[in-house]
Amino acid sequence: MDSGLYVVATPIGNLGDMVPRAVEVLQAADLVAAEDTRHSAPLLKHFGIDTPMLAYHDHSDQRALSRIEQCIESGGSVALISDAGTPLISDPGYRLVRHAHEQGWAVVPVPGASAAIAALSVAGLPTDRFLFEGFLPARAAGRQARLEELATETATLVFYEAPHRVLDTLGDMRDLLGEQRVAVLARELTKTFETLLRAPLAELVARVEADSNQSRGEIVLLVEGAETRSGDITPEIARMLELLSETLPPRQAAGLVADAFGLRKKLLYEHLISR
Ligand code: SAM
Repeated sequence: MDSGLYVVATPIGNLGDMVPRAVEVLQAADLVAAEDTRHSAPLLKHFGIDTPMLAYHDHSDQRALSRIEQCIESGGSVALISDAGTPLISDPGYRLVRHAHEQGWAVVPVPGASAAIAALSVAGLPTDRFLFEGFLPARAAGRQARLEELATETATLVFYEAPHRVLDTLGDMRDLLGEQRVAVLARELTKTFETLLRAPLAELVARVEADSNQSRGEIVLLVEGAETRSGDITPEIARMLELLSETLPPRQAAGLVADAFGLRKKLLYEHLISR
């Protein structure tokens, strides 16, 4: 196998989702750098992989990094895995991958499962544009402040959430994003208790409140984006935008009309370029 750092996805629950190339690469590598070696040992054993493992996360000490460096600089290969899913996606690895680029090592993806993408693929929400937020701040004040910032985002929103916070987070989403927005709770994907709940936020909160099983296990929350409010662009506003855009670049025209009518510049700009 060519020398370099291989970033290898592992299943998010169902071992049948391990891709054959991941098994080959983990077996052929000289070293497996794992977020938690005790957690990953059963996975490697299950697939008959006996490559030596080293604990690595973004706060590992210099010794761990030196071992990886020695291995790759002497022509070897290191496979990076996290506890589940794709490394770096709300998981360790960013610093190592950045370091690999700085050192000029080859960095090779071995793609597979990721909970965010699995959830998006079944949520029935627009997927042409989505914003992966990962975990919101754990404390209520930080979480609410971030949700307020996201309230006008028109892309589909994707969050990871811990089971003991899910009800509070859904309540904040209902209060700050709007109770009619459709949301999806994707739980225990690929596992025995896989569940999808899809409803407007007010109803989703009530369903999770009524059945504590719905906040157990591993959870992805998805929320449809804010409406574009294209109804706010009256024919007069549209005409003014057109006139201004004959002499000004679209962004500037949109900015002037946004100031004059108290509308969002992005909405007007998108209207202009979609004509
Ligand atoms: N790197 C992983 C990935 O690619 O999805 C994510 C790691 S992050 C530390 C763990 C979070 O991912 C969980 O708290 C949960 O929000 C989500 N997650 C992981 N596995 C899941 C599953 N099987 N079903 C639903 N959500 C899952």
